[in-house]
Amino acid sequence: MSGRSLSYLASISVDEVKGIGPASAKKLADAGIRSVADLLLYVPRRYLDRSRLFDLAAVPLDEEVTVVGTVQSVRKRRISRGRTMIDAVIGDGTSSMTAVWFNPYMRLAEGSTVALSGKVERFRGRLQMKSPAVDSLAGESLTTGRVVPIHGAVGPLTALKLRESLANALARSRPITDPVPDEILARLDLVDRDTAIGNIHFPETSAAADAARRRLVFDELFRLEVALAKQKQLQVEAAVGVSHRRAGPLVEAFTGSLPYTLTGAQDRVIDEILSDMSEAHPTHRLLQGEVGSGKTVVSVIAMLAACQSGYQAALMAPTEVLAEQHYLAIRDLLATAGLQPQIDDPDAPDGTESLFAAEVPEGKDRPMVRLGLLTANSAEINSLPVGAASRTHLLDGIAGGSIDLIVGTHALIQEDVEFDRLGAAVVDEQHRFGVYQRVSLRDKADEYDPDLLIMTATPIPRTLAMTLYGDLDVSLLDEMPPGRRPVVTQHVHPESEAMAGVYETVRREVGAGRQVFVVCPLVEESDKLAVASATSEHARLKTVFPDLRLGLLHGQMRPADKEGVMTRFRDREIDVLVATTVIEVGIDVPNASVMVIEDAGRFGLSQLHQLRGRVGRGEHASTCFLIAAPTTADAEQRIAAMVATNDGFRLAEEDLRIRGQGTVFGARQAGLKDLKLADILVDAELLVSARREAFALVLKDPELTDHQALAEEVAVLLGEDVAWLFVS
Ligand code: ADP
Ligand code: MG
Repeated sequence: MSGRSLSYLASISVDEVKGIGPASAKKLADAGIRSVADLLLYVPRRYLDRSRLFDLAAVPLDEEVTVVGTVQSVRKRRISRGRTMIDAVIGDGTSSMTAVWFNPYMRLAEGSTVALSGKVERFRGRLQMKSPAVDSLAGESLTTGRVVPIHGAVGPLTALKLRESLANALARSRPITDPVPDEILARLDLVDRDTAIGNIHFPETSAAADAARRRLVFDELFRLEVALAKQKQLQVEAAVGVSHRRAGPLVEAFTGSLPYTLTGAQDRVIDEILSDMSEAHPTHRLLQGEVGSGKTVVSVIAMLAACQSGYQAALMAPTEVLAEQHYLAIRDLLATAGLQPQIDDPDAPDGTESLFAAEVPEGKDRPMVRLGLLTANSAEINSLPVGAASRTHLLDGIAGGSIDLIVGTHALIQEDVEFDRLGAAVVDEQHRFGVYQRVSLRDKADEYDPDLLIMTATPIPRTLAMTLYGDLDVSLLDEMPPGRRPVVTQHVHPESEAMAGVYETVRREVGAGRQVFVVCPLVEESDKLAVASATSEHARLKTVFPDLRLGLLHGQMRPADKEGVMTRFRDREIDVLVATTVIEVGIDVPNASVMVIEDAGRFGLSQLHQLRGRVGRGEHASTCFLIAAPTTADAEQRIAAMVATNDGFRLAEEDLRIRGQGTVFGARQAGLKDLKLADILVDAELLVSARREAFALVLKDPELTDHQALAEEVAVLLGEDVAWLFVS
């Protein structure tokens, strides 16, 4: 074999490269560059295209250009609202201009030579560039090549020195072999790897640099997807699942008696889930849907499919309030469908036992669904509280198989909970659970894997979902139930006169029979402070609205009190519910039409979107007020994004943009470590292609026997990180 593979180059230490001694090697190692492969993949930050390089005297205005000059003076000034502005005068012998930055960390030395890239405009008669990209050009000549790569310096290693070392490394390494099959490259119009690695560093033209980047981005994504595809293949082969009956008396009776018609999206998604569940391999599906799109009913139908197949089903929610709400909603829907066993003697202390005895009540021709609720503080069976003393009773029912459908919180995954034959597990609002909590429900069955449905209203851009949840199939509820009107969002400054308008709206809506949420400022430091802030806000609003019925809900209330407040709110005995973020997820009170979020700048974007999703769930026109005097640029951007759109997917992308892909997913970023060049938003299309090709390849050659080089590269370059991607 001629040429060297990337995995081979990954085994050669970077200090083998001519020009890199032990001291430099140490600096490079600190920056994550240990092997020759690492060095070759240390790509330029930017390119200066000499065809876009202009003298200041002749520079075109308002288009992307590069200007090279000397820094003549630098000034740092404080401007409004604690922001800092840096301005510098740059001259190139033909003329001079001003460059300004609003970044206090900008460093610029007088007398140094820099290349500034951006748009030149005319401002008060002078040439000016706003926040241009800066590259220091100390001692470098720009006369080589038409496109000049700008490598970031690493510690004391100048860009120039790095470039020399790179040239040496390249000369010794080439030709670099390509592990990706030719037909894939041809299909996706990708250049070969040797060309890509050569041209990413020393391109002749911008187009060559672009093509090189596209190929290397593909490589990162392809490695990840091959690893995911392999893992998934193993899972499918190893796992024994349950083949559920998709059509049957429970699903039929239930869907037939719903008080509304399912949306087209619900029908489609239910079909996807049920066909999956009817297969013998375990279902492993992510259900994404905008807040209020009606995920709950979809999950109930999936659970009933398991029940009618003789299995148990469980639904896990992140909070007690939400578990209780699901339990009540499901109980009512089951009752309407005639699927609830009658309680013979509700007052009998052991009355629940008769439930277990009665398989099918007299005169009924279909099985019943025995429903349970289990949280840390409550245990109920078919609306009959079994109380703390009888918690064991409920646990016995779950272990003995006399409870069919069980709703609960984390309590469900405690060790003392054993299922008789759990066939389907649903996790609601998955983002609120830790990675291991999400899978532990599935582990409640021994001999087979129950079907797993994970629901989320924290929309993840689809391409990201494909990467992060590579082992999950994704269903998307992309349609709202009919009659919903988009929530109107307004940003209001707390000290402004517009606050009066907020109170007026509250009053008007309550007058019209609607209800209102007021969410108190987020207090991250402690739960106690959060409670204090909610309590004082509740007291203050009582003086603003002496005539309205106010309620208070926070995390430290006793569960029974929480339930009491929620019940009174649902029953419309409370007009304005003042709450902490305990109401953040899932709460469903369609009569509520106003959401007031105080100090909204402190909440994250997905949290704001969740909170807003508590209104606009019925046919009433709804408003969300974001009360905020944002003090940071990020907060400002979040508020602006909320006002601009109701689309959760766009907000999620915006969130990703504001926060950066590395910070968004906690433990999962481990799996994204290999993505140095790829940006899952920008490179979305390439990700889709990489995934399709990878899964097709692995389907044909599961062990990668005919693709040894690829297998080796995935193992060497991705290593252990892949495991993280499978803790869904
Ligand atoms: P989410 O997807 O946020 O969990 P829910 O399942 O709580 O949404 O549903 C939101 C509201 O919409 C609930 O009140 C539910 O009863 C109602 N709903 C669900 N599906 C439909 C439908 N097809 N038509 C009308 N209302 C629906
Ligand atoms: Mg929900």
